[in-house]
Amino acid sequence: MLILMSHQATRDEVENVIRHVRERGYRPIELPGTDRLAIGVLGSNPGQIRDAVVALPGVLAAVPVSKPYKQVGREWHPEPTVVDVGGVRIGEGAPFAVAAGPCAVESRDQLLETARAVKAAGASLLRGGAYKPRTSPYSFSGLGAAGLEYLAEARAETGLPVVTEVMSPGDVERVAAVADMLQVGTRNAQNFALLEAVGSAGKPILLKRGLSNTIEEWLLSAEHVVSHGNPDVVLCERGIRTFETATRNTLDLSAVPLIRSLSHLPIVVDPSHATGHRDLVRPMALAALAAGADGLLVEVHPNPDDALSDGPQSLTLAQFSSLMEDVRHLGAALNRMAEPA
Ligand code: PEP
Ligand code: MN
Repeated sequence: MLILMSHQATRDEVENVIRHVRERGYRPIELPGTDRLAIGVLGSNPGQIRDAVVALPGVLAAVPVSKPYKQVGREWHPEPTVVDVGGVRIGEGAPFAVAAGPCAVESRDQLLETARAVKAAGASLLRGGAYKPRTSPYSFSGLGAAGLEYLAEARAETGLPVVTEVMSPGDVERVAAVADMLQVGTRNAQNFALLEAVGSAGKPILLKRGLSNTIEEWLLSAEHVVSHGNPDVVLCERGIRTFETATRNTLDLSAVPLIRSLSHLPIVVDPSHATGHRDLVRPMALAALAAGADGLLVEVHPNPDDALSDGPQSLTLAQFSSLMEDVRHLGAALNRMAEPA
């Protein structure tokens, strides 16, 4: 429920409403809007205190929030959120942001070579997994702490902020000490203990859509993070599981404008995991830009045939550079690129 305060409401009246809501067992959140001050009410069935609240001095109206997610929804927060990741802004109105790098950090040389190349090609963020969720327990599962160290070195050299995955609540502190942005992967999109832990990590979160998540489930996962204190969530559409096996997943591009209308959070697209085939990455990346995404997450490897994970979907360094040229052309036509310095 949203309590709308009248323009004439005094500070004392606002405080009184907040106190009242809290005493009734709900969580009030003050929402200073461009138009008027509102107070969001969180908790189960807040409609039961509606009549009491509208009778308080200074209250104009109390309106229900129709969606099950509250804080991540547009009803609650109409203005778009722009998330700052180590100085790179992601969201509506900010320049199109491209995070690129290997699926997994495999070695210092592999990471540094990739980081230099994606920086030169125009990427704004470096991605790379140090802790890798793998379907098989026998697959390469990342270098762990050494991988984080290489990521920090690559950032120091290139200036690119780092996005990397965290898989368990116990790792959050260690990964957050290095990462500029924590990725929650598709397999953990409904790991509520992890969502709670990253809610207090103090770093922006890249929240992948769960393998079989509806849009509503995905936004509720984001709500878990935000409700635990972290407002800086970027959603990432990375394909969902369908009956189709010709592609690794099915890219749901309609999620981009849909999320845009339902939520104020930024939305980026990962055409690599969505398709599983490097030949499909470029067309889907451009389609994502045209659909209004705020950015991309693209896997790039100096030698994809030798990659320890996700080689078939990884672009070569040259392919990535050529993709970025296309992104610049299309982005310029759509007015989505940063002004040249
Ligand atoms: C990844 O980004 O390398 C990854 C494992 O992604 P997802 O969780 O989308 O499969
Ligand atoms: Mn991958």
